[in-house]
Amino acid sequence: MNTPRHAPMDRFPVAGGELQVGGVPLRALAERVGRTPFYAYDRRVIDEQVALLRRCLPEAVRLHYAIKANPLPALVRHLAGRVDGLDVASLAELHLALDTGLPAPAISFAGPGKTDEELAAATRGGVILNVESAGELERLATIGERLGERPRVALRVNPDFELRGSGMKMGGGARPFGIDAEQVPALLRRVAALDMEWLGFHIFSGSQNLGAEAIAEAQRLTLELARRLASDAPAPLRWLNIGGGLGIPYFPGESRLDPVPIGERLGERLSALQQAHPDVEVVMELGRFLVGEAGIYVCKVIDRKVSRGEVFLVTNGGMHHHLAASGNLGQVVRRNFPVAVGNRMDQPVDTECHVVGPLCTPLDILASKVRLPAAGPGDLIVVFQSGAYGLSASPTGFLGHPVAAEILV
Ligand SMILES: *Cc1c(COP(=O)(O)O)cnc(C)c1O
Repeated sequence: MNTPRHAPMDRFPVAGGELQVGGVPLRALAERVGRTPFYAYDRRVIDEQVALLRRCLPEAVRLHYAIKANPLPALVRHLAGRVDGLDVASLAELHLALDTGLPAPAISFAGPGKTDEELAAATRGGVILNVESAGELERLATIGERLGERPRVALRVNPDFELRGSGMKMGGGARPFGIDAEQVPALLRRVAALDMEWLGFHIFSGSQNLGAEAIAEAQRLTLELARRLASDAPAPLRWLNIGGGLGIPYFPGESRLDPVPIGERLGERLSALQQAHPDVEVVMELGRFLVGEAGIYVCKVIDRKVSRGEVFLVTNGGMHHHLAASGNLGQVVRRNFPVAVGNRMDQPVDTECHVVGPLCTPLDILASKVRLPAAGPGDLIVVFQSGAYGLSASPTGFLGHPVAAEILV
Protein backbone atom coordinates (compact mmCIF):
# COMPACT_ATOMS: atom_id res chain seq x y z
CA MET A 1 0.00 0.00 0.00
CA ASN A 2 1.28 3.45 -0.90
CA THR A 3 -0.05 5.88 1.70
CA PRO A 4 1.27 9.40 1.21
CA ARG A 5 3.65 10.53 3.92
CA HIS A 6 4.66 13.86 5.32
CA ALA A 7 7.89 15.40 4.08
CA PRO A 8 10.66 14.54 6.56
CA MET A 9 10.62 16.98 9.49
CA ASP A 10 14.37 17.36 9.66
CA ARG A 11 14.74 21.00 10.70
CA PHE A 12 15.01 20.07 14.37
CA PRO A 13 17.64 17.53 15.42
CA VAL A 14 16.95 14.67 17.81
CA ALA A 15 19.31 13.67 20.63
CA GLY A 16 18.70 11.06 23.29
CA GLY A 17 15.23 10.45 21.91
CA GLU A 18 14.28 14.08 22.38
CA LEU A 19 13.62 16.84 19.90
CA GLN A 20 16.07 19.75 20.19
CA VAL A 21 15.19 23.36 19.56
CA GLY A 22 18.15 25.69 19.22
CA GLY A 23 20.24 23.05 20.97
CA VAL A 24 17.84 22.81 23.92
CA PRO A 25 16.08 19.47 24.61
CA LEU A 26 12.32 19.84 24.41
CA ARG A 27 11.53 19.09 28.07
CA ALA A 28 14.18 21.53 29.26
CA LEU A 29 12.74 24.10 26.89
CA ALA A 30 9.25 23.50 28.31
CA GLU A 31 10.67 24.15 31.77
CA ARG A 32 12.35 27.31 30.56
CA VAL A 33 9.06 28.53 29.09
CA GLY A 34 7.45 27.64 32.40
CA ARG A 35 4.21 26.30 31.00
CA THR A 36 2.60 24.42 28.16
CA PRO A 37 1.27 24.82 25.54
CA PHE A 38 3.80 27.00 23.78
CA TYR A 39 5.13 27.89 20.38
CA ALA A 40 8.89 27.79 19.88
CA TYR A 41 10.58 29.42 16.89
CA ASP A 42 14.15 28.58 15.98
CA ARG A 43 16.04 31.58 14.65
CA ARG A 44 18.62 29.31 13.02
CA VAL A 45 15.93 27.83 10.76
CA ILE A 46 14.67 31.32 9.90
CA ASP A 47 18.21 32.34 9.00
CA GLU A 48 18.59 29.23 6.82
CA GLN A 49 15.46 30.15 4.88
CA VAL A 50 16.66 33.71 4.35
CA ALA A 51 20.05 32.41 3.21
CA LEU A 52 18.42 29.90 0.86
CA LEU A 53 16.41 32.64 -0.82
CA ARG A 54 19.39 34.97 -1.02
CA ARG A 55 21.32 32.21 -2.80
CA CYS A 56 18.52 31.39 -5.22
CA LEU A 57 16.92 34.72 -6.04
CA PRO A 58 18.47 37.33 -8.31
CA GLU A 59 20.59 39.75 -6.30
CA ALA A 60 18.41 42.70 -7.32
CA VAL A 61 15.30 41.22 -5.72
CA ARG A 62 14.42 42.82 -2.39
CA LEU A 63 13.20 40.31 0.16
CA HIS A 64 10.34 41.44 2.39
CA TYR A 65 8.75 39.71 5.35
CA ALA A 66 4.94 39.79 5.54
CA ILE A 67 4.33 40.34 9.25
CA LYS A 68 0.90 38.75 9.27
CA ALA A 69 2.53 35.30 9.01
CA ASN A 70 3.93 35.73 12.52
CA PRO A 71 3.84 39.06 14.36
CA LEU A 72 5.79 38.03 17.49
CA PRO A 73 7.81 41.21 18.12
CA ALA A 74 11.07 39.36 18.87
CA LEU A 75 10.74 37.41 15.64
CA VAL A 76 9.88 40.51 13.60
CA ARG A 77 12.93 42.28 15.05
CA HIS A 78 15.09 39.28 14.24
CA LEU A 79 13.90 39.24 10.64
CA ALA A 80 14.13 43.01 10.27
CA GLY A 81 17.90 42.67 10.57
CA ARG A 82 18.01 40.09 7.78
CA VAL A 83 15.47 41.05 5.13
CA ASP A 84 15.22 44.24 3.08
CA GLY A 85 11.78 45.31 4.20
CA LEU A 86 8.53 44.51 5.96
CA ASP A 87 4.96 44.30 4.70
CA VAL A 88 2.16 45.21 7.07
CA ALA A 89 -1.61 44.94 6.91
CA SER A 90 -2.88 46.77 10.00
CA LEU A 91 -2.07 49.69 12.27
CA ALA A 92 -0.60 47.33 14.88
CA GLU A 93 1.66 45.72 12.29
CA LEU A 94 2.67 49.18 11.06
CA HIS A 95 3.79 50.09 14.59
CA LEU A 96 5.73 46.83 14.87
CA ALA A 97 7.46 47.49 11.56
CA LEU A 98 8.37 51.10 12.36
CA ASP A 99 9.59 50.02 15.81
CA THR A 100 12.25 47.81 14.18
CA GLY A 101 14.05 50.92 12.97
CA LEU A 102 13.91 49.87 9.32
CA PRO A 103 13.64 52.94 7.08
CA ALA A 104 10.03 53.82 6.22
CA PRO A 105 10.48 53.34 2.44
CA ALA A 106 11.30 49.68 3.18
CA ILE A 107 7.84 49.22 4.69
CA SER A 108 4.66 48.80 2.69
CA PHE A 109 1.07 48.66 3.86
CA ALA A 110 -1.51 46.52 2.01
CA GLY A 111 -4.98 45.30 2.81
CA PRO A 112 -8.54 46.08 1.86
CA GLY A 113 -10.52 48.29 4.19
CA LYS A 114 -7.72 50.48 5.50
CA THR A 115 -9.30 53.04 7.81
CA ASP A 116 -8.71 56.78 7.60
CA GLU A 117 -6.64 56.48 10.77
CA GLU A 118 -4.48 53.78 9.19
CA LEU A 119 -4.05 55.76 5.98
CA ALA A 120 -3.04 58.82 8.01
CA ALA A 121 -0.63 56.89 10.22
CA ALA A 122 1.01 55.27 7.20
CA THR A 123 1.29 58.62 5.41
CA ARG A 124 2.83 60.27 8.48
CA GLY A 125 5.11 57.26 8.87
CA GLY A 126 6.33 57.67 5.29
CA VAL A 127 5.68 54.06 4.31
CA ILE A 128 4.45 52.92 0.90
CA LEU A 129 0.69 52.47 0.71
CA ASN A 130 -0.60 49.75 -1.58
CA VAL A 131 -3.90 51.27 -2.63
CA GLU A 132 -6.64 48.70 -3.04
CA SER A 133 -9.51 50.60 -4.65
CA ALA A 134 -10.65 53.81 -6.32
CA GLY A 135 -12.42 54.82 -3.11
CA GLU A 136 -9.31 54.30 -1.01
CA LEU A 137 -7.29 56.41 -3.44
CA GLU A 138 -9.68 59.34 -3.01
CA ARG A 139 -9.72 59.02 0.80
CA LEU A 140 -5.94 58.92 0.82
CA ALA A 141 -5.74 62.04 -1.33
CA THR A 142 -8.01 63.92 1.08
CA ILE A 143 -5.97 62.74 4.07
CA GLY A 144 -2.69 63.70 2.42
CA GLU A 145 -4.05 67.19 1.76
CA ARG A 146 -5.24 67.56 5.35
CA LEU A 147 -1.86 66.43 6.71
CA GLY A 148 0.13 68.47 4.23
CA GLU A 149 2.01 65.33 3.19
CA ARG A 150 2.36 63.61 -0.18
CA PRO A 151 1.40 59.96 0.27
CA ARG A 152 3.75 57.45 -1.33
CA VAL A 153 1.57 55.04 -3.26
CA ALA A 154 1.62 51.87 -5.27
CA LEU A 155 -1.52 50.51 -6.88
CA ARG A 156 -2.37 47.01 -5.85
CA VAL A 157 -3.52 45.23 -8.97
CA ASN A 158 -5.99 42.38 -9.04
CA PRO A 159 -4.39 40.54 -11.95
CA ASP A 160 -6.31 38.98 -14.81
CA PHE A 161 -4.69 35.63 -14.02
CA GLU A 162 -4.25 33.50 -10.93
CA LEU A 163 -1.43 31.48 -9.42
CA ARG A 164 -2.34 27.91 -10.36
CA GLY A 165 -2.49 25.39 -7.52
CA SER A 166 -2.34 27.85 -4.66
CA GLY A 167 -3.58 26.95 -1.22
CA MET A 168 -4.97 30.45 -0.99
CA LYS A 169 -6.07 32.43 -4.03
CA MET A 170 -5.75 36.18 -3.76
CA GLY A 171 -5.93 37.35 -7.35
CA GLY A 172 -7.82 36.69 -10.56
CA GLY A 173 -11.58 36.92 -10.94
CA ALA A 174 -13.64 39.11 -8.62
CA ARG A 175 -11.69 39.88 -5.41
CA PRO A 176 -11.78 42.25 -2.46
CA PHE A 177 -8.02 42.72 -2.97
CA GLY A 178 -6.58 45.23 -5.36
CA ILE A 179 -7.82 47.11 -8.38
CA ASP A 180 -8.92 45.07 -11.38
CA ALA A 181 -6.13 45.26 -13.96
CA GLU A 182 -8.49 46.69 -16.56
CA GLN A 183 -9.38 49.63 -14.24
CA VAL A 184 -5.75 50.49 -13.53
CA PRO A 185 -5.13 52.81 -16.52
CA ALA A 186 -8.02 55.07 -15.44
CA LEU A 187 -6.77 55.13 -11.83
CA LEU A 188 -3.25 55.95 -13.00
CA ARG A 189 -4.64 59.03 -14.74
CA ARG A 190 -6.39 59.94 -11.48
CA VAL A 191 -3.17 59.46 -9.49
CA ALA A 192 -1.41 61.85 -11.87
CA ALA A 193 -4.00 64.51 -11.05
CA LEU A 194 -3.66 64.06 -7.27
CA ASP A 195 -0.93 65.30 -4.98
CA MET A 196 0.80 62.01 -4.33
CA GLU A 197 4.00 60.21 -5.23
CA TRP A 198 3.30 57.20 -7.42
CA LEU A 199 5.95 54.50 -7.16
CA GLY A 200 4.59 51.43 -8.85
CA PHE A 201 2.49 48.32 -8.47
CA HIS A 202 1.77 45.54 -6.05
CA ILE A 203 0.66 42.36 -7.80
CA PHE A 204 0.02 39.39 -5.51
CA SER A 205 -1.54 36.41 -7.20
CA GLY A 206 -1.59 33.70 -4.56
CA SER A 207 -0.06 31.96 -1.62
CA GLN A 208 1.01 28.55 -0.28
CA ASN A 209 2.17 27.18 -3.62
CA LEU A 210 4.52 24.20 -3.86
CA GLY A 211 4.94 24.25 -7.64
CA ALA A 212 8.06 26.06 -8.84
CA GLU A 213 6.72 26.02 -12.42
CA ALA A 214 3.41 27.59 -11.42
CA ILE A 215 5.18 30.29 -9.42
CA ALA A 216 7.63 31.06 -12.22
CA GLU A 217 4.74 31.26 -14.69
CA ALA A 218 2.80 33.62 -12.39
CA GLN A 219 5.92 35.78 -12.08
CA ARG A 220 6.25 35.89 -15.87
CA LEU A 221 2.64 37.06 -16.15
CA THR A 222 3.15 39.52 -13.29
CA LEU A 223 6.15 41.19 -14.93
CA GLU A 224 4.31 41.27 -18.25
CA LEU A 225 1.27 42.88 -16.65
CA ALA A 226 3.43 45.41 -14.81
CA ARG A 227 5.14 46.45 -18.05
CA ARG A 228 1.84 46.75 -19.84
CA LEU A 229 0.30 48.84 -17.05
CA ALA A 230 3.41 50.98 -16.63
CA SER A 231 2.99 52.27 -20.16
CA ASP A 232 -0.02 54.27 -18.90
CA ALA A 233 1.75 55.51 -15.78
CA PRO A 234 2.42 59.15 -14.84
CA ALA A 235 6.05 58.41 -13.95
CA PRO A 236 8.67 55.72 -14.57
CA LEU A 237 8.15 52.49 -12.65
CA ARG A 238 10.29 52.60 -9.50
CA TRP A 239 8.77 49.91 -7.29
CA LEU A 240 7.22 46.58 -8.17
CA ASN A 241 6.07 44.12 -5.55
CA ILE A 242 5.56 40.81 -7.34
CA GLY A 243 4.13 38.99 -4.30
CA GLY A 244 5.50 35.72 -3.01
CA GLY A 245 3.44 32.59 -2.95
CA LEU A 246 6.23 30.19 -1.95
CA GLY A 247 4.68 27.45 0.16
CA ILE A 248 5.85 24.87 2.67
CA PRO A 249 4.72 21.22 2.89
CA TYR A 250 1.99 20.75 5.50
CA PHE A 251 0.20 17.59 4.48
CA PRO A 252 0.98 14.00 3.52
CA GLY A 253 2.19 13.71 -0.06
CA GLU A 254 3.53 17.29 -0.22
CA SER A 255 7.20 17.99 -0.65
CA ARG A 256 9.46 20.98 -0.18
CA LEU A 257 9.57 23.61 -2.88
CA ASP A 258 12.90 24.13 -4.62
CA PRO A 259 13.34 27.87 -5.18
CA VAL A 260 16.31 27.43 -7.57
CA PRO A 261 14.30 27.28 -10.82
CA ILE A 262 12.15 30.20 -9.65
CA GLY A 263 15.23 32.34 -9.12
CA GLU A 264 16.76 31.34 -12.45
CA ARG A 265 13.69 32.18 -14.48
CA LEU A 266 13.11 35.40 -12.56
CA GLY A 267 16.70 36.50 -13.16
CA GLU A 268 16.29 36.32 -16.95
CA ARG A 269 13.01 38.22 -16.91
CA LEU A 270 14.21 40.81 -14.48
CA SER A 271 17.00 41.97 -16.75
CA ALA A 272 14.43 42.63 -19.49
CA LEU A 273 12.30 44.65 -17.07
CA GLN A 274 15.30 46.61 -15.83
CA GLN A 275 16.24 47.54 -19.39
CA ALA A 276 12.86 49.16 -19.85
CA HIS A 277 12.71 50.56 -16.28
CA PRO A 278 16.28 51.06 -15.02
CA ASP A 279 15.28 52.41 -11.59
CA VAL A 280 12.79 49.73 -10.69
CA GLU A 281 13.14 48.03 -7.33
CA VAL A 282 11.58 44.54 -7.40
CA VAL A 283 10.22 43.19 -4.13
CA MET A 284 9.14 39.69 -3.17
CA GLU A 285 7.06 39.44 -0.01
CA LEU A 286 7.13 36.17 1.87
CA GLY A 287 5.59 35.00 5.09
CA ARG A 288 5.35 31.30 5.69
CA PHE A 289 8.36 30.36 3.58
CA LEU A 290 10.56 32.40 5.92
CA VAL A 291 9.10 31.35 9.26
CA GLY A 292 6.72 28.40 8.84
CA GLU A 293 9.26 25.60 9.14
CA ALA A 294 11.03 27.36 12.01
CA GLY A 295 8.15 26.95 14.41
CA ILE A 296 6.69 24.12 16.45
CA TYR A 297 3.64 24.05 18.69
CA VAL A 298 4.04 22.03 21.86
CA CYS A 299 1.27 20.83 24.14
CA LYS A 300 1.02 18.26 26.90
CA VAL A 301 -1.03 15.09 27.04
CA ILE A 302 -3.52 15.39 29.92
CA ASP A 303 -5.46 12.19 29.41
CA ARG A 304 -5.37 9.04 27.33
CA LYS A 305 -8.63 7.30 26.71
CA VAL A 306 -9.97 4.55 24.53
CA SER A 307 -13.35 5.00 22.90
CA ARG A 308 -14.83 2.06 21.02
CA GLY A 309 -11.38 0.76 20.31
CA GLU A 310 -9.78 4.06 19.22
CA VAL A 311 -7.10 5.82 21.25
CA PHE A 312 -7.53 9.51 22.08
CA LEU A 313 -4.70 11.59 23.47
CA VAL A 314 -6.38 14.59 25.09
CA THR A 315 -4.00 17.52 25.37
CA ASN A 316 -4.05 20.96 26.91
CA GLY A 317 -3.64 22.53 23.46
CA GLY A 318 -5.81 22.66 20.39
CA MET A 319 -7.73 24.79 17.92
CA HIS A 320 -7.83 27.83 20.23
CA HIS A 321 -4.04 28.08 19.76
CA HIS A 322 -3.56 26.40 16.41
CA LEU A 323 -6.59 26.76 14.23
CA ALA A 324 -4.66 25.77 11.11
CA ALA A 325 -3.58 22.39 12.49
CA SER A 326 -7.14 21.69 13.61
CA GLY A 327 -8.18 21.99 9.98
CA ASN A 328 -10.48 24.93 10.54
CA LEU A 329 -8.41 27.64 8.82
CA GLY A 330 -9.53 27.34 5.23
CA GLN A 331 -9.21 23.57 4.75
CA VAL A 332 -11.98 21.90 2.79
CA VAL A 333 -11.02 18.34 3.61
CA ARG A 334 -9.26 18.03 6.96
CA ARG A 335 -5.69 16.68 6.75
CA ASN A 336 -3.09 16.28 9.46
CA PHE A 337 -0.16 18.54 10.02
CA PRO A 338 3.01 16.56 10.84
CA VAL A 339 3.01 15.66 14.54
CA ALA A 340 5.30 13.74 16.88
CA VAL A 341 5.76 12.91 20.54
CA GLY A 342 8.70 15.22 21.18
CA ASN A 343 10.12 13.25 24.09
CA ARG A 344 9.77 9.84 22.39
CA MET A 345 11.41 10.50 19.05
CA ASP A 346 13.37 7.22 19.17
CA GLN A 347 10.42 4.98 19.89
CA PRO A 348 8.53 2.92 17.34
CA VAL A 349 5.61 4.69 15.73
CA ASP A 350 3.20 1.85 16.35
CA THR A 351 0.00 3.25 17.84
CA GLU A 352 -2.78 4.73 15.79
CA CYS A 353 -4.48 7.51 17.72
CA HIS A 354 -6.30 10.83 17.65
CA VAL A 355 -4.74 13.90 19.24
CA VAL A 356 -7.44 16.27 20.44
CA GLY A 357 -7.70 19.42 22.50
CA PRO A 358 -9.64 20.28 25.65
CA LEU A 359 -12.43 22.27 23.99
CA CYS A 360 -15.98 20.97 24.05
CA THR A 361 -16.35 20.84 20.28
CA PRO A 362 -15.65 18.10 17.75
CA LEU A 363 -13.65 20.68 15.77
CA ASP A 364 -10.86 20.59 18.36
CA ILE A 365 -8.59 18.08 16.65
CA LEU A 366 -4.82 18.34 16.31
CA ALA A 367 -4.34 15.07 14.47
CA SER A 368 -6.70 12.34 13.48
CA LYS A 369 -5.73 8.67 13.00
CA VAL A 370 -2.00 9.34 13.16
CA ARG A 371 0.65 6.80 14.05
CA LEU A 372 2.68 7.83 17.08
CA PRO A 373 4.71 6.05 19.75
CA ALA A 374 2.56 4.84 22.65
CA ALA A 375 2.04 8.00 24.70
CA GLY A 376 0.18 9.12 27.78
CA PRO A 377 -0.21 11.91 30.33
CA GLY A 378 2.84 14.17 30.61
CA ASP A 379 4.16 13.45 27.13
CA LEU A 380 4.78 16.42 24.84
CA ILE A 381 2.98 16.51 21.51
CA VAL A 382 4.75 18.53 18.84
CA VAL A 383 3.03 19.99 15.78
CA PHE A 384 5.60 20.88 13.10
CA GLN A 385 5.32 23.54 10.36
CA SER A 386 3.76 25.87 12.90
CA GLY A 387 5.85 29.03 12.60
CA ALA A 388 3.31 30.87 10.44
CA TYR A 389 -0.42 31.52 10.89
CA GLY A 390 -0.34 29.83 14.27
CA LEU A 391 -1.27 31.67 17.44
CA SER A 392 -2.14 34.98 15.81
CA ALA A 393 -4.53 33.21 13.42
CA SER A 394 -6.35 31.33 16.17
CA PRO A 395 -9.47 32.06 18.24
CA THR A 396 -7.66 32.38 21.57
CA GLY A 397 -10.74 33.56 23.43
CA PHE A 398 -12.82 30.53 22.50
CA LEU A 399 -13.72 28.72 25.75
CA GLY A 400 -11.40 30.81 27.87
CA HIS A 401 -8.45 28.44 28.24
CA PRO A 402 -5.05 30.06 28.86
CA VAL A 403 -3.25 31.48 25.81
CA ALA A 404 -0.16 29.66 24.56
CA ALA A 405 3.27 31.10 25.32
CA GLU A 406 5.70 31.96 22.54
CA ILE A 407 9.47 31.84 22.57
CA LEU A 408 12.16 32.62 20.04
CA VAL A 409 15.12 30.32 20.58
C1 LIG B 1 -0.51 37.07 3.47
C2 LIG B 1 0.24 37.81 2.48
C3 LIG B 1 1.57 37.47 2.21
C4 LIG B 1 2.29 36.33 2.86
O1 LIG B 1 1.82 35.10 2.38
P1 LIG B 1 2.61 33.76 2.75
O2 LIG B 1 1.79 32.68 2.16
O3 LIG B 1 2.69 33.68 4.22
O4 LIG B 1 3.96 33.87 2.14
C5 LIG B 1 2.25 38.24 1.31
N1 LIG B 1 1.66 39.28 0.69
C6 LIG B 1 0.38 39.62 0.91
C7 LIG B 1 -0.22 40.78 0.21
C8 LIG B 1 -0.37 38.90 1.81
O5 LIG B 1 -1.65 39.25 2.02
